[in-house]
Amino acid sequence: MDSVVASIGMSASRVPGCWIDGAPAEGSGEVFVVQNPATDDDMVSLTLATAADVDRAVASARTAFLPWSRRSPAERSSVLAALARAVEVHAEEFVAEEVAQTGKSIRLAREFDVPGSIDNIDFFAGAARILEGKATAEYSPDHTSSIRRGAVGVVGSITPWNYPLQMAVWKVIPALAAGCTVVLKPAELTPLTTLRLARLATESGLPDGVFNVVTGTGLDAGASLARHPGIDVMTFTGSTPVGRSVMAEAATHGTRVQLELGGKAPFVVFEDADLEAAIHGAVAGALINGGQDCTAATRAIVADAVYDDFVDGVADTMQRVVVGDPMDPSTDMGSLISRHHRDRVHAMVDRARTSGARIVTGGGSPSGAGAFYPPTLVADVEEDAEIYRDEVFGPVLTVSRHFGDDDAIRRANDTPYGLAASAWTTNVYRAGRASREIDAGCVWINDHIPIISEMPHGGFGASGFGKDMSTYSFEEYLTVKHIMTDITGIARKPWHRTVFGS
Ligand code: NAD
Repeated sequence: MDSVVASIGMSASRVPGCWIDGAPAEGSGEVFVVQNPATDDDMVSLTLATAADVDRAVASARTAFLPWSRRSPAERSSVLAALARAVEVHAEEFVAEEVAQTGKSIRLAREFDVPGSIDNIDFFAGAARILEGKATAEYSPDHTSSIRRGAVGVVGSITPWNYPLQMAVWKVIPALAAGCTVVLKPAELTPLTTLRLARLATESGLPDGVFNVVTGTGLDAGASLARHPGIDVMTFTGSTPVGRSVMAEAATHGTRVQLELGGKAPFVVFEDADLEAAIHGAVAGALINGGQDCTAATRAIVADAVYDDFVDGVADTMQRVVVGDPMDPSTDMGSLISRHHRDRVHAMVDRARTSGARIVTGGGSPSGAGAFYPPTLVADVEEDAEIYRDEVFGPVLTVSRHFGDDDAIRRANDTPYGLAASAWTTNVYRAGRASREIDAGCVWINDHIPIISEMPHGGFGASGFGKDMSTYSFEEYLTVKHIMTDITGIARKPWHRTVFGS
């Protein structure tokens, strides 16, 4: 995406691309035009942040850290609760802006992105008040021990373009609840709802400098943030190769990292599955957000006995999905994020076709305005095919056969990724085995996609490590300190014998 620094679109109104120290700020780099990928229209232009702007933002977050971390949990909670209400009041503005900058359907933004974000903020407004450590205990006869949890410090966050508001919320809100301060770099294609969130946070009473935004490219602002000595923990959501490079940059100063990376979710259908449910689940799970979802169903692995019926049912259902104007509430799927990305998706489908896979539906050459791509089903896919192994990140589902439970689970796990998976069966024992043996951070049984604020999200292997959402995410933002207090009052402790002799 870094190569997409657009030529200056003078028709687009100019907005500040950063939010630093509680106020809008201009970046000092090149001019970038944010476009609507469904219409190709220029939306706004902004100047991108550079390393110098990242320095300013980190300095602001550092100054804000002590006062914010020393506020009581109740005080932090009340600011977050006020922010949740403010997002609720401005929900339709977030919806419109999210649709315009991503091309996603308005139904998705209205029913998932924005309410999900509000719920997440509400959850952490409550959870901010239960940052407990383990109870005080006497493990030594001469001492009392207790655990203090402290805020880690300044958090650097980098987010992708697929769910800009939700990803910002997942990264920023638990960090703020824990008492950290944040510098966030959104994807330059989609910074608008993140900037709006930062503005509303300030208006809701968040002290200046606690939440800063620097819109810039990955190679410039992103890498500068990851290797900044003033950052105490880096949290990243995006692709696996970039996540690894963020980890390498962070290693310059030994900075902690949390990585939410790519996925290649298996969708395993056993022969006893409710086939109608599996077909609908596969289409919804594959096409949500135009398939630009790290947990999207991408590899349907279907029992030989029901394979043909599954392929026919999915193809038929995909053909009835309405692709078009994202702002029209009757649209099921909007555009992809950019023409560049759409062409990448199409090239992968084309290579699959050339190498012998069967394109059952979709896959046509894109044409016309907007980054639209049709729902695409690719059948009879070999296990070593690129489309089966690599992340497509588009509305493309592959389907291949399995020949029994062992084979199904082997195929499900035959990927370096481990973010999400689903198993479709009416047999409780199969469901139990699948949930135990499929290696993924989330295994759904007879569903695919739902998430809830109370439960953790995060993967294994090439999908990264650490958790977003739920109280598990606090582990990323809190230190663990052991406090050991002598309770004997004796000047010469028994263990001093090791130094002074008896
Ligand atoms: P990306 O990795 O290209 O970019 C993500 C972010 O990293 C952007 O802000 C980008 O500007 C920045 N970046 C790029 N190069 C960088 C560098 N060298 N140093 C520092 N930052 C850099 O990903 P994307 O194309 O924006 O998003 C799609 C990817 O995100 C997919 O792989 C998807 O699976 C993944 N994703 C994962 C999750 C999850 O929770 N696991 C959620 C959403 C998206």
